[in-house]
Amino acid sequence: MPILEISGLRKSYGSTEVLRGVDLHVNAGELVCVIGPSGSGKSTMLRCCNLLETPSGGRIFANGHDVTSAMVDINRLRQDIGMVFQQFNLYPHLTALDNVSLALRKVQRRTNAEAEALAQAALEQVGLGAKARSFPAELSGGQQQRVGIARAVALKPHVILFDEPTSALDPELVEDVLNVMRDLRQRGMTMLVVTHEMAFAHAAADRVVFMDGGVVVEQGTAADVFENPRETRTQSFLARYG
Ligand code: ADP
Ligand code: MG
Repeated sequence: MPILEISGLRKSYGSTEVLRGVDLHVNAGELVCVIGPSGSGKSTMLRCCNLLETPSGGRIFANGHDVTSAMVDINRLRQDIGMVFQQFNLYPHLTALDNVSLALRKVQRRTNAEAEALAQAALEQVGLGAKARSFPAELSGGQQQRVGIARAVALKPHVILFDEPTSALDPELVEDVLNVMRDLRQRGMTMLVVTHEMAFAHAAADRVVFMDGGVVVEQGTAADVFENPRETRTQSFLARYG
């Protein structure tokens, strides 16, 4: 059974239809990369999965639970589906440790000692054990994003959604973050990653999904999509960005 299954997903803002029936799934332990031009609906698709946006139609199942049901427990959902944002979205007034432990305390209702131990372990997993007491402004962009990943990982979600996690970083910091993601995959984490890092998608993804105009135009193994794209829209996108 897929960990994440999206079928016929639609989203409109007023009369503008941004998602026009998106179908995609992520199996347990898979790293699926989503590529596609700016404005194709990639962020909107991710944000619908944890209800940062309300879908206009279609279904999303996460670990077998219907995300689009009126009965959904949104707190539960956001523990099951982690999210890593392009702009990190850390609290500037909290240390790295407190950024990671916040939801463990407030949402999972763990004791301070337990939350801090889990947060410290998550920071160590991303190579930032020594930066637990640093504030975001004292960290590089790459380190801030690794805190963002630790925050997602600490909740032990079923799947983590990444929205262009390296797009805000200076080029020399990109590889550190990609390495953390490669390491997570080795550990069996299920991940859906929107990215413009084509070399990463080609080498690390189990499957690649190409979106354009609010639909999935083509998907397949990384080798299928990058080396033998079938659709002309995929071919011209890859000719420009690949
Ligand atoms: P991508 O992440 O692929 O660049 P987005 O999902 O951010 O694409 O956006 C898809 C389209 O939806 C764009 O045309 C964008 O302008 C529009 N859009 C996104 N969010 C909103 C919003 N809150 N209100 C109106 N239009 C939006
Ligand atoms: Mg986007």
